[in-house]
Amino acid sequence: MQGETSEEKPSWLKMLSRRKNPGRVVNFCFVIVLFFSTLLTWREIVVLEDAYISSQRNNLENVAHEMDAQLQFNVDRLLFFRNGVQSAISTPLAFDVLNNARGEFEQKRQAPDWSITIDKRRTLPVFGVSDDFVNKTSILNRDNALLENEITATLELGYLLRLSHNSQRLAERMLYVSRGGFFLSSDPSQNAQAIISTYYGLVTSPWFAMQSQRNNPARGIRWNTIQASDSVATEAQLVTASVPIDVDHYWFGVLAMDFSVSEMKAFLMSAVEGEKEGEYQLYDSRMNLIATSAGTNDYPTRLTVREEAQLSHEFSFDNRGGVRLVTSYISWEKLRNFDGVLLRIHHLHEGVRGDFGSITIALALVWMLFTIMQLIAWWVIRRMVANMAGLQESLQWRAWYDALTRLYNRGALFERALDAVQDCKLKQLPISVIQIDLDHFKRINDQYGHQAGDRVLSHAASLISSKIRDTDIAGRVGGEEFCVVLPGASREMALEIAERIRSRINMREILVGKGTTMRISASLGVSSSEENGQYDFELLQSVADSRLYLAKQGGRNRVCASDVDTL
Ligand code: GH3
Ligand code: MG
Ligand code: MG
Repeated sequence: MQGETSEEKPSWLKMLSRRKNPGRVVNFCFVIVLFFSTLLTWREIVVLEDAYISSQRNNLENVAHEMDAQLQFNVDRLLFFRNGVQSAISTPLAFDVLNNARGEFEQKRQAPDWSITIDKRRTLPVFGVSDDFVNKTSILNRDNALLENEITATLELGYLLRLSHNSQRLAERMLYVSRGGFFLSSDPSQNAQAIISTYYGLVTSPWFAMQSQRNNPARGIRWNTIQASDSVATEAQLVTASVPIDVDHYWFGVLAMDFSVSEMKAFLMSAVEGEKEGEYQLYDSRMNLIATSAGTNDYPTRLTVREEAQLSHEFSFDNRGGVRLVTSYISWEKLRNFDGVLLRIHHLHEGVRGDFGSITIALALVWMLFTIMQLIAWWVIRRMVANMAGLQESLQWRAWYDALTRLYNRGALFERALDAVQDCKLKQLPISVIQIDLDHFKRINDQYGHQAGDRVLSHAASLISSKIRDTDIAGRVGGEEFCVVLPGASREMALEIAERIRSRINMREILVGKGTTMRISASLGVSSSEENGQYDFELLQSVADSRLYLAKQGGRNRVCASDVDTL
């Protein structure tokens, strides 16, 4: 019956149920579940992080775009004026006022400092220094055929600058500084007092010297930052865009535009106004901080030297990107109209407070909770499985064995014996049966009590099993009756074994009560398939049983192996 049901089970179930250690199966299942739940959570977090990063990038892109638009306006203006001045030098207007100005210059050029003003309300004044000053300074030169044209072109520029004065955005001041010893500024009030020192300051500023043909062969716009002197990490004081003025390959001077750092800061501050977190920082190409959106009371985030190095390394490869630092995420974008880069710095604690952060934390908490529950479930199931395995084992044992003697019980003995008989029949081997009954056992019970009887029973059983081979089958078939099946044993061999069992049982006195010993004995009947070639266990057993009674009748404590033998 059992064989049939096991065949009906699907093979995978059989495989599982046959596994020696179901605990391992439980472990395996939990590891799989844990692995996939972790994988899924991790994937969700990665998706969230990507979304967060792209939202950061979007914000930055918008601000960079707007800043670029404003810079573009000023850069366009600078180039527009450059073209204007260049064409005014090569083709000057033949106005009387301008011709007069040329004459005025000829009169004043020897003076240590001078100024030419056409009309204070409509033009800007030109300030200048003497021929001597120009001759002493190697970068300056007044010996040019178009020098007078340059003077009138400068005055024309003054006219244009006056006209467009109010439409500035981000730009603070516009300057034309000539190598011919004069200059013009859209903010003339500060220059009137100290013309020489102002001019000296302008021609020695880095943006002037770097516009020479050698230093700027492309003749394009150059950006310059003047840092505050106290620390590198504080905001810049001045940002200047400059472009050289050339006519016929001669370098006349530099047109420069000072940008207002405070305007840039105000722009960045207005960019973060709508957002609760994040900081914008504008850097020039040498990683000098120009402006930050951090308010005057806040400390701007300072990048470490290593972070700066990492960022500038990134800048050399791409126009935009993002870098994850230890406690912050920095997205960056290069500006098209400025030789620098706009950064958006987002701190971890801000990220955690934001929507993405709270969703991530919630997700991590759910994962943790799930994992804890899973571990608890795993522990409980492991214990249950262990208990069930123990229970199953003990039930199985009880189904097969007799608890007192630890030999096979009657049912198990019959089952095993039938198999053994079939096996021997197939292999054409003899099989023998010994039936054993303890003599006068009732008396032991009566005299020393049931417990003493039990002890004797288990003692006798252990003696029986010690005298047989591993392949033999021994069981308790009745109260004090035992049966031993000996596959492959001939009648003689069985007789010999039976004799050994008998003498072993009868050999010594055994302890039956407190300080009381007694010698017990048993009667044994032997039958064998050899006798009539019958392979029928029940027959063999009943023959052995009838011979056992012959042995009892013959006086007990003896072995009887034939129907007439009453030895
Ligand atoms: P005989 O020599 O003719 O076999 O005499 P006997 O007393 O052994 O024969 P009988 O079959 O009359 O007695 C068997 C006794 O074994 C009866 C019963 O009380 C006792 N017995 C049966 N099972 C157990 C058991 O599990 N434990 C104990 N202590 N006694 C048992
Ligand atoms: Mg008996
Ligand atoms: Mg009996």
